[in-house]
Amino acid sequence: MPKIEFKTESKKLLDMMINSVYTNKEIFLREIISNASDAIDKRQYMSLDNSDMSLSDGEYQIVIEKDADNRLLSIRDNGCGMSREELENNLGTIAKSGSYDFKQDSDAKNKTEIIGQFGVGFYSAFMVADSITVKSKVPGSKEAWQWSSSGVDGYELEPCELDEAGTIVTLHIRQDKDDESYSEFLDDYRIRSLIRKYSDYIRYPIRMEVEESRPKEGSENEYETVKATTTLNSMVPIWRRSSSEVSQEEYNKFYRDKFFDYEPPVKVIHFSVDGTTPFESLLFIPSHAPYDYYTKMYEKGLSLYSNGVMIMEKCPELLPDHFGFVHGIIDSDSLTLNISRETLQHNRQLTNIERAVEKRIKSELLKLLESDRDKYTGFFEALGLQLKYGLYADFGVNKDTLKDLVMFYSSNDKKLTTLKEYVGRMKEDQKAIYYACGSSIDAAAMLPQAEAVIDRGYEVLYLKDDVDEFALKTLSEYDGKTFTNVSDQSLDISSEEEKASLKTENDSNKEMLDYIKTSLGDKVSSVRFSSSLKDHPVCLSSEGGISLEMEKVLNSMPQNDRPVKAETILEINVSHPIAESLKKLYFKDKDKLASYSKILYAQARLIGGMEIDNPTELSNLVCELMV
Ligand code: ADP
Repeated sequence: MPKIEFKTESKKLLDMMINSVYTNKEIFLREIISNASDAIDKRQYMSLDNSDMSLSDGEYQIVIEKDADNRLLSIRDNGCGMSREELENNLGTIAKSGSYDFKQDSDAKNKTEIIGQFGVGFYSAFMVADSITVKSKVPGSKEAWQWSSSGVDGYELEPCELDEAGTIVTLHIRQDKDDESYSEFLDDYRIRSLIRKYSDYIRYPIRMEVEESRPKEGSENEYETVKATTTLNSMVPIWRRSSSEVSQEEYNKFYRDKFFDYEPPVKVIHFSVDGTTPFESLLFIPSHAPYDYYTKMYEKGLSLYSNGVMIMEKCPELLPDHFGFVHGIIDSDSLTLNISRETLQHNRQLTNIERAVEKRIKSELLKLLESDRDKYTGFFEALGLQLKYGLYADFGVNKDTLKDLVMFYSSNDKKLTTLKEYVGRMKEDQKAIYYACGSSIDAAAMLPQAEAVIDRGYEVLYLKDDVDEFALKTLSEYDGKTFTNVSDQSLDISSEEEKASLKTENDSNKEMLDYIKTSLGDKVSSVRFSSSLKDHPVCLSSEGGISLEMEKVLNSMPQNDRPVKAETILEINVSHPIAESLKKLYFKDKDKLASYSKILYAQARLIGGMEIDNPTELSNLVCELMV
């Protein structure tokens, strides 16, 4: 029998397809099974007009058979089959898809769900097979045809025998001397797990004969190995069932099996969306961060199914970064797939789904916050950092989505609070939302400026994560209230009287304060008396856009070669006894005043949770005083 050349002139095309369209060999089985499922869909559709073609519902099936000794794997279906012409047209021409033609037939358009569209899926089998035989018979036809090919050389077509209508695709699995990996595709367990992974929700049963161990008849503890045909796929996906029919245990089990998380999720979101891109979805909000969550290794994304077939295990386009911790599934029958099914066209459909998913996650999280605060705070402790990064990222484009979901610790019981709750508790005369930064909640709470603000009856948010202050700066206001760092000079909590008397103190001691500033060099940009430090002698504050905390964070970034500097102010408590001794020293002993200044500056840094520049100098100065 003479070989027939492939119709597409370029053999290179097939070669390229086999070697590069699919990065992942194992998907060949998914492709062949999808074709089989499509073929059964087509037969069912055609039998609407021609009942001679139909089988009863329970008879449709896909059967996997295996002959490991001869390295053969076959996939048999009782679908629409292919005539000689169809074999030639569909398998003889690369990138010719019979399914696509069928779909264009307007009548058929909306009635069946066909996965194949691009006419290359079948060829993916050459990644694992060195030759392929397809035997096929159209229902009602007397003749059957066999197509066979060993890849780029072309194919042969000849008549053959076939009992039942449908198609058998038989792969001769490659044997590579150096690489045993192809043999795995002849292994029962591997085949089962591939079906589970990619084709679990194909609507027709996928059956295979497997060896099972069973108790021997008449005996309780003796087992025998028997061959039995078993169905490998579960057929109805959990997300296609009505949520009222699925128990929490079922959801949890599915979550555990599919996403390998040992803890149940804090929230299951099962919903469907109509509209331009209709889809069904089952999402899980985990109760803890995956172990690699904050590393580069973590890949966000949702599993994408089309017509019950998994197209992509993790499709990142379906999830915004700030909800990257969510696991789940999207199933949509209306996706336009591109040739490999592995890479979807980056089209509006994905964006539509992502938007709907984002909206839904947000509303469910808000509901959780209302209905089960403990659960929500638990979730936030584990994953809230991501939400705060989300606020800050991309110049705040997502701030409206996230501003009501973020929480901060607050002086109100040292518990997590939302901004909405904070604003609800604000005093009438309160000008801004106050916050204090520190390496821990306690460090922030111990800042002299924080104590002073709390003393006046205001609530202070304690920011402990690097991103916090950046997030608030990006947010810039909440409900019309701006944010003020308690260590910022713009903090305005003193009465007019206090302000006036402080101004007098500062003016009349200007020379002395300037002298302290000079002895500290460029460490500070000015030195002032302050009336809001409670019992603390000194503290550091800042002026302008960059706070001390931001200076610290920005300068600790690995790629920052231009260090930033906050405008730092050394504040001295005007009512602390140290203020009087400084004033006296200015007239008595300027050298000593210079030494005291250095000590006070170092103290202010320590109180503010910062490292001191020169510990040896400080130690020497303190010893001098002691001696
Ligand atoms: P796609 O499935 O993307 O259309 P394939 O290369 O996988 O492309 O298949 C090409 C065509 O061959 C299909 O569109 C279909 O018409 C036909 N075909 C493949 N497998 C079968 C089958 N098991 N039964 C009937 N027709 C099939």
